Amino acid sequence: MTSTADRRAGGACPHCGWPDHAEPFQVVSRHTTAAGVTVWTRCGCGSLQMRVVDATGLRIVSRSRPADPALTSSRFCER
Ligand SMILES: [Zn+2]
Repeated sequence: MTSTADRRAGGACPHCGWPDHAEPFQVVSRHTTAAGVTVWTRCGCGSLQMRVVDATGLRIVSRSRPADPALTSSRFCER
């Protein structure tokens, strides 16, 4: 399989290659804001993503690393 995937829509998960424009593996939560809709999704590899959907389309704002048994939610907030 060659990687001639259509990347115009913004890209794919760097960890497993799940296309950003595809259906999310799992929707964790969804919040409507003044600017649009913020959606937290979990990728097939376990990476948590924060997506913003607004008038300009879909953006991936933040992406965590894939699920790691050593870090299971204990370092979720790294600030
Ligand atoms: Zn992934």
